[in-house]
Amino acid sequence: MKRALVCGAGGFICGHLVKKLKSEGYWVRGVDIKCHEFTELPADEFMLLDLREKEQCDQALAIEGGKFDEVYQLAADMGGMGFISFAECEIMRNNVLINVNMTHAAAQAGIERYFYSSSVCVYRDMERDEPPLTEENAVPAQPDNEYGWEKLYSERVGLAYARQFGMKVRIARFQNCYGPEGTWIGGREKAPAAICRKVAETDAGGKIDVWGDGSAIRAFTYVDDLVDGIYRLTQSDIEHPANIGSEEHVTVTQLAETVIKVSGKDLGIEYIDGPVGVHSRNFTKDRIHQTGWKASISLDEGIRRTYPWVDEQVRNAASC
Ligand code: NAD
Repeated sequence: MKRALVCGAGGFICGHLVKKLKSEGYWVRGVDIKCHEFTELPADEFMLLDLREKEQCDQALAIEGGKFDEVYQLAADMGGMGFISFAECEIMRNNVLINVNMTHAAAQAGIERYFYSSSVCVYRDMERDEPPLTEENAVPAQPDNEYGWEKLYSERVGLAYARQFGMKVRIARFQNCYGPEGTWIGGREKAPAAICRKVAETDAGGKIDVWGDGSAIRAFTYVDDLVDGIYRLTQSDIEHPANIGSEEHVTVTQLAETVIKVSGKDLGIEYIDGPVGVHSRNFTKDRIHQTGWKASISLDEGIRRTYPWVDEQVRNAASC
């Protein structure tokens, strides 16, 4: 039985990744600085550890009878645009510490396959209708925020350790991911969860707030598609970063309209000032397509799976 270490297992994407690895027959240890808030994690073992500390990275990797076959490193201090735009120092410090220490500890432990979760935030801002950027177009670099700069640096840490230690490092640049069992309130939630919450909280005939003018373009990737891409990339021979994301590009207004439609409520949209991020996103997926991966869940279907979960959280919170 293969053994996998999942770093960030108390978080949204890793909660789903642990389920995926269990379904593939792995023995799984999850580690995080906190427990998962929304799901009973099916990991075989779970350890509360602060991966900013090298000794705690070593503890995460220590296992009887040898070493882990695969390490999935997704732990990060992160959130949506609201969080990213004000917590610059926390993001730069905490995430560099996690990635430098965890990559080094994994290489020292002789780990063969190491996955790292980067982001399309490594790319510059784009114009609407601009041709897609390839992975190589991340340099010369001009990320829109410090979160993107940290991801770019940590990618390079991974690539350096791959060269020097022969560790098979696999790097994915995720587009916006959404789905059930992720942060939906508190300031760290991302746009799909925030919009689902606002719709769930608003009575028919009312209006929901949307930051900016709603024209920013994104491709939202459903979490089941993303974890399938993570798994395929980790097993592959692809040595350079690969974009993973949906091909369905929509405006933030279209995202909000989709959620409103799925809710069945008659609601309006009010545009207000708030951090918006880049104007547009569009990337080639040729590299990840080499693994046979393709996004399979439309935004409409993904929101149909996500909205009822957020709605239930809102109703449970209201009844407390
Ligand atoms: P998340 O916040 O739900 O999960 C991250 C987890 O890391 C959290 O549970 C958090 O407690 C944990 N963590 C933070 N600091 C830690 C520490 N010092 N030690 C141990 N654990 C720590 O976020 P997510 O959406 O699941 O994202 C997972 C990864 O994917 C992150 O690296 C993120 O940057 C990347 N990513 C996510 C998206 C997205 O749309 N969600 C897009 C691009 C990249």
